[in-house]
Amino acid sequence: MDTTYLKKFYKKKHDDKINALFLADVISKQEKDVLLNRTLELDSDTANHMIENYVGNYSMPLGVAMNYIIDQEELVVPMAIEEPSVIAASSFAAKIIGSAGGFKTTVTGRMMIGQLTLKAVPNLEVAEQKIKEAKKDILSRANEAHPSIVKRGGGAKNLEVRILTDDTNNNIPTYLSVHVHISTQEAMGANIVNTMMESIAPYLEELTQGKALLRILTNYATECLATSTCVIPAHKLKTGEFSGEEVRDRIIEATQIATIDPYRAVTHNKGIMNGVDAVVLASGNDWRAIEAGVHAYASRSGQYRSLTSWTKNDAGDLVGELTLPLPVGTVGGSISIHPGAKLAHSIMGHPNAPKLERIIVSVGLAQNFAAVRALVTEGIQKGHMGLHARSLAISAGAKGDHIQQVADILKHSKHKNLQRAKNILLNILE
Ligand code: NDP
Repeated sequence: MDTTYLKKFYKKKHDDKINALFLADVISKQEKDVLLNRTLELDSDTANHMIENYVGNYSMPLGVAMNYIIDQEELVVPMAIEEPSVIAASSFAAKIIGSAGGFKTTVTGRMMIGQLTLKAVPNLEVAEQKIKEAKKDILSRANEAHPSIVKRGGGAKNLEVRILTDDTNNNIPTYLSVHVHISTQEAMGANIVNTMMESIAPYLEELTQGKALLRILTNYATECLATSTCVIPAHKLKTGEFSGEEVRDRIIEATQIATIDPYRAVTHNKGIMNGVDAVVLASGNDWRAIEAGVHAYASRSGQYRSLTSWTKNDAGDLVGELTLPLPVGTVGGSISIHPGAKLAHSIMGHPNAPKLERIIVSVGLAQNFAAVRALVTEGIQKGHMGLHARSLAISAGAKGDHIQQVADILKHSKHKNLQRAKNILLNILE
């Protein structure tokens, strides 16, 4: 990638942006033509086979975040999102973090967890023991149900048993929960895992004398974690109003509030998910699965808390860290069907699944940095309303060049609302 073509990207006109991506070797000639001709469309035949009762396509803007340096590699990150200011904030944060060395990431092994719950087990302890003794047999039966993933080097690798007590009924031990750890390689793996779990149910019923109730993966993917860290020297945080040290300390304190108070934590984490969801969606992955798992992970201590940590090191630098469960894939689901998802993978240089995790968790960290930094300094509305002005201009009926004209006047207006946008447009049209 040649980033010289991407300088001041946000200032370029639409077609020049696309041409710059081509010149920088981020997209191919064919992808450039698709974007220039506005033909990045899911065709209705394909869509009709993807879901039930299909009636039409629901479009979402696709943009690119700039300035990312992740594990010393420069990257352009595709984001599908309807909310203004997210991509600007992402690129802004990535620029500051990039100028300080960028993001450093780690990933755990990518194990998905299949869960099978058994009810009416006559003796839970005896059943638990029998399952543990039959571990090898259970794993090989699971693998027989999906031999192709085993051929790819994946498959069922480990097994754990938990007795579930019912805390709504005097903590009585009630169910047996069998977890099978399954490597699904490049796939998110829901269907692979579910097939395996259904296949071992009769054998587990026979072993335990219980009845299998649920046989499905858990979206609480605690064996598929990705971590991103960054170190930002305090002087890079300086604003007109605050010194770098003050901004650093305010970010640390704001994160502490999100650690102790769920009301703040939810909004703090929503800001992280602004970035995470946008890349998950652009890459054709299942964002409901990621959302569900991430928020459960934020509650792992028993209280819902901040997912990020911001501290200072001995040199006085601001140190950020984010860990997320990220069971994303580069194959399967709609990834190889959806033209937007195909383009998104291409923009990122066709990362494998662990690398996609590294990108997504870094975007989450950047997004959190941008949001908290803005909150503890100038406030979120200045940047947000500036960009939101364009949405208001469109809602007011502005078209073409009038959109920016209305937005520019609106940005400097005391009241930035729809009525004001309509009045500005009327004045322009008169
Ligand atoms: P698929 O069912 O599409 O399976 C992926 C397939 O890709 C594999 O079975 C494998 O088939 C093939 N493949 C090709 N190359 C590779 C590779 N390198 N590594 C791994 N597999 C490869 O998708 P998933 O099983 O990933 O399931 C994801 C879908 O399931 C998503 O659409 C999700 O929304 C949905 N889902 C989610 C649920 C949840 O989250 N709770 C529940 C149910 C469904 P082969 O080896 O035979 O070639």
